[in-house]
Amino acid sequence: MDFLTLRNVNVSGKRVLMRVDYNVAIDENGDITDDTRIRNSIPSIKQLQEKGAKIILLSHLGRPKGREQKLMLDKVAHHLSSLLNHEVRKVDDCIGTEAELVVATLTNSDILMLENIRFHPEEEKNDVEFARWLARLAEIYVNDALAVSHRNHASVSAITHLLPSYAGPLLEKEVHFFEKVMKDPETPMVIIIGGAKISDKIGVILNLLPKVDYIIVGGATANTLLHAKGIDMAASLVETDKLAYAINLLADGGEKLVIPVDVVVEAENGVSTSIVEVTDFDTLEPGSRAKDIGPKSIELFISKLEGARTILFAGPMGVYEDYRFSEGTLKLLQAIGGINGIKIAGGGDTLAAVSFFKMQDNFTFLSTAGGAMLEFLEGKKLPGIDALEQAKHRMMEEGRAYTM
Ligand code: ADP
Ligand code: MG
Repeated sequence: MDFLTLRNVNVSGKRVLMRVDYNVAIDENGDITDDTRIRNSIPSIKQLQEKGAKIILLSHLGRPKGREQKLMLDKVAHHLSSLLNHEVRKVDDCIGTEAELVVATLTNSDILMLENIRFHPEEEKNDVEFARWLARLAEIYVNDALAVSHRNHASVSAITHLLPSYAGPLLEKEVHFFEKVMKDPETPMVIIIGGAKISDKIGVILNLLPKVDYIIVGGATANTLLHAKGIDMAASLVETDKLAYAINLLADGGEKLVIPVDVVVEAENGVSTSIVEVTDFDTLEPGSRAKDIGPKSIELFISKLEGARTILFAGPMGVYEDYRFSEGTLKLLQAIGGINGIKIAGGGDTLAAVSFFKMQDNFTFLSTAGGAMLEFLEGKKLPGIDALEQAKHRMMEEGRAYTM
């Protein structure tokens, strides 16, 4: 990583605009159902408070079409305030007169939350004029939201041309872990891929295959690989249009690729379940669906984790939401707890499974970056990270990188 961080700047008394990721899960009333993203931002906010910054927080929530009451950030501001035990002020737009007036009254360590930035369509267009209005509010810009850094949006990209720009502590930590996985992992390294679709994870598997000792594949992702081996998967979730890729992966992966030897099958009636060795799968009724890895697969997968120094967990091993198909995911999460090393989990449903089974403590790092994490691990350059790196170079040339 080649960007500047909060260690490179004195923020005391300065207005700091920090892009955070408060795109939290909410229910139909707009109440927060999972506050992980808010909790993850607390150390960054506290650091800015300790350094005496005037803190202005900026986030999006959901996919609004214009202003939507349910997607306003008041509940997020309120919840943040209770977590911090500190007042969090809130304005009803992220640019304009009200925001500018309130910003002018901030004193050191005060916190202000701006309104959902996606109420303005200019955000997703990376509109420079819009970014100029944002930039008027602050003296320093901080990106602490890896989760949106794969997007070329005004609050991650255009803004870096208008304010001295720094990486926030959470983004820095997240990038550090992912760079370590990609460039200099402690080995043996094992990655566990699961979830619904092999197409989501293809890029990651390909990029990491040369670096890992094992790639363990479960979930419906494994169904496509089993299908590619010529096994009739009946009515299981399979991406038939990814067959050619799956066949190549089986060949390239060789011994490194570890796939299920048995599965938990749901019968066509949707009620009864049975454990089936994958080689016997073609004896089953046509409506059957493989929905979890079986006990022999669990044992096999866990044996590959032994001695690992780096583990990346991306995707549940089965339909963990249903207790009948939760065993594979649960047993692997438990086994990860017994391994000494760097253990990272990421992905929306993966984190939901980790918190459902209360296994947070089994991991070194839980990444909420989702799609951005996958793109990072595919080896792609993320626009938001690129913007920070370019901003550093411009600042160095102009000799204003270190404003201590
Ligand atoms: P993440 O959000 O962590 O990247 P995905 O979205 O790829 O994970 O996949 C999670 C979903 O995959 C879960 O809802 C789970 O029920 C589903 N899933 C896992 N295994 C299977 C399977 N064998 N058949 C159908 N769905 C599955
Ligand atoms: Mg998902």
